[in-house]
Amino acid sequence: MKSLKFAVLPGDGIGPEVMSVTLDILKIIGERFNFTLDYQTADIGGIAIDNHGTAFPVTTQAICEESDAILFGSVGGPKWESLPPKDQPERAALLPIRKAFSLYANIRPGLLYSELAEASPLKSERIPKGIDIVCIRELTGGIYFGQPKSTYEEAGETVALDTMIYKTSEIERIAKVAIDTAKNRQKKVCSVDKANVLETSVLWRKTVTDYFKKHAPEIELSHMYVDNAAMQLARDPNQFDVLFTENMFGDILSDEMGVICGSLGMLASASLGASKNSIGLPFGLYEPSGGTAPDIAGKGIANPCAQILSAAMMLRYSFGENEAAETIEKAVEKAVTSGSRTGDIAFGGKALSTKEMSEAILHSI
Ligand code: NAD
Repeated sequence: MKSLKFAVLPGDGIGPEVMSVTLDILKIIGERFNFTLDYQTADIGGIAIDNHGTAFPVTTQAICEESDAILFGSVGGPKWESLPPKDQPERAALLPIRKAFSLYANIRPGLLYSELAEASPLKSERIPKGIDIVCIRELTGGIYFGQPKSTYEEAGETVALDTMIYKTSEIERIAKVAIDTAKNRQKKVCSVDKANVLETSVLWRKTVTDYFKKHAPEIELSHMYVDNAAMQLARDPNQFDVLFTENMFGDILSDEMGVICGSLGMLASASLGASKNSIGLPFGLYEPSGGTAPDIAGKGIANPCAQILSAAMMLRYSFGENEAAETIEKAVEKAVTSGSRTGDIAFGGKALSTKEMSEAILHSI
């Protein structure tokens, strides 16, 4: 029987709560689809600071390096907010782990079932069929990583500098991810940039246009300035199918997409690495889009769907278990649309606990 080798990094807050039920579901799915789980759990984020003095310990990195994928919870919380910003869990764990594994491709589905339209701040008549789009964001280039980056004194005042930089090869490899994603959907990609102002965007637009023309002429490619994309997303999200952009624009647009899709508790994500894993598929990190939800942590009421759907993405992208992934996705949809809900999506109706929600999903499986 096949054995799936992955690292489990639950992190802080609701992370361990939603991770535990996700592993239960993966175990049952493995029995159905003929695979076993071979995972090692390690500390990351605040708990790693408490136990090891650093947010991303070398022992955790070693466990990830031995694995074919990482299933990640979330990190951070009030306990660590008084630390210097560079030592806080998000900055000291998330950015280094992305860098360590060259996680350059962030895939974030923006999915809202029509039955949950109430959870969206958009008027229900604007999204009669819910929302179904996906954002592909470049994750290791652009202004967040560009050098030089500094703050200095000049002519009696403080000056801060960030550098936005992109190479053709970085743009082409993420363009390939957008194409692969579009091929399994509506074959439609909207590339977002600011080519009227930024040199990096001029290169982005030219490179994307050339790459699509050469490698995927069947995909309908359009371009949009980022300011317009932010407006269009709030006006009519379903005009997009695959929304594709660079690091900083993607950071902002994917969060906007998260908000219009309702609860963070429903939104999964995948960040694929440049290297292949031991079975020849992309190494990836899979995590919910939300954070550690300190306001509800420890109460056993967090919505586990985002973590469970992230695990489904792991099965698909890093292990090629497409049928198992689809079974999980359908079970989550069936459970939620037939009325099983945690508090964040219950709208005053009966709110299930994390465990009860996962049992409802198991029942659908
Ligand atoms: P958050 O996403 O943790 O919470 C925002 C709101 O969404 C809260 O009301 C929370 O209860 C709700 N929510 C989020 N996930 C939920 C779930 N699964 N079920 C039900 N409700 C859910 O954002 P925040 O409050 O801004 O941040 C809290 C902490 O998380 C901070 O320390 C922040 O740095 C960290 N954070 C970590 C990540 C990450 O690890 N990738 C991402 C974002 C924030």
